[in-house]
Amino acid sequence: MGINRSIAELVGKTPLLELTGLEKKLGLEAKVIVKLEYFNPNQSVKDRIALAMIEEAEKNGDLKPGYTVVETTSGNTGIGLAAIAAAKGYKFRVYIQDQVSEERFQVIHAFGGETIKLSEEPVVAKVLAETNGDFVAAIKALKEQVLDKEENIFFVDQCSNPANPGVHERTTGPEIWNDTDGNVDILVANVGTGGTVSGTGKYLKRKNPDIKVVAIQPGPDSLPSEANPAPEEITGVHPFDGIPAERIPSTMNLNIYDEKFEVETIDAYKAARAAAKSDGILVGTSSGAAIHTAVELAKRPENKGKTIVAVLPDTGLRYLSTNLFNEDFN
Ligand code: PMP
Repeated sequence: MGINRSIAELVGKTPLLELTGLEKKLGLEAKVIVKLEYFNPNQSVKDRIALAMIEEAEKNGDLKPGYTVVETTSGNTGIGLAAIAAAKGYKFRVYIQDQVSEERFQVIHAFGGETIKLSEEPVVAKVLAETNGDFVAAIKALKEQVLDKEENIFFVDQCSNPANPGVHERTTGPEIWNDTDGNVDILVANVGTGGTVSGTGKYLKRKNPDIKVVAIQPGPDSLPSEANPAPEEITGVHPFDGIPAERIPSTMNLNIYDEKFEVETIDAYKAARAAAKSDGILVGTSSGAAIHTAVELAKRPENKGKTIVAVLPDTGLRYLSTNLFNEDFN
């Protein structure tokens, strides 16, 4: 491997792990293989898109030395961007939802980034109040009324940036194909921006059109409703079916998946807890959702002998302040 000279060189090339412990414990007759994205330098799949979106912008002239990189999430993408921006010498600014955990602010600040709460940006606060919290509308207003008027900034916009699905088509898909020697029957991926499932699915289906793509959507009990306005949610995962088209990011290819699989947060928690005990991996809530989905697929008689690959987006260490590993919460 030699000596790397930038964290950019450490992004991707993450390992596949067959969950042999879980397979044995549950008596599964299909292979459950996971792609451990927490092996990225800042512990999530989003390091891939952070690097790709920045390098694409450098290439086409949207991002130049001295510029500020701007994004609207403190999630994994914000952390990945903050780190890559730091390593490449750009300033970084992120607009953050107010209720985000204190750790998120600390991480972005550690990388030298600036954080602005959404409630502190008047244009955004106004739209959020008027639309009952429509985040897509709020970001659009932020872009048109604030960012477009500023000079020397690059607004990353992961939900419409083609480099997001593009990097999964260029790296995540080929890695899975090569590391399994093409022996993969089913791909399981979460949907947030849709970048992972769209890009990875596109590459794998091009190699073998028979590969089935299963996309994860939060179950009804895990989404805010009138009866339950603040349920435990699967961080970073959003519905793509049964919601208005304008709320679906353009990075999500709705033609890519063969099956939509709904997962409730509690089942994601239980699967992540089980995999920690059976195979010694500590992964996040959406990873738990992917493991749960892969296991349920493995139990189906028609999938006997098949190989299921599930992409696990991030590390469980990012969730220690949540109920993910709180066994009393069940
Ligand atoms: N899980 C986590 C923890 C995430 O941060 C994200 C990104 N929002 C996803 C899953 C979904 O990935 P994608 O945006 O590529 O659909």
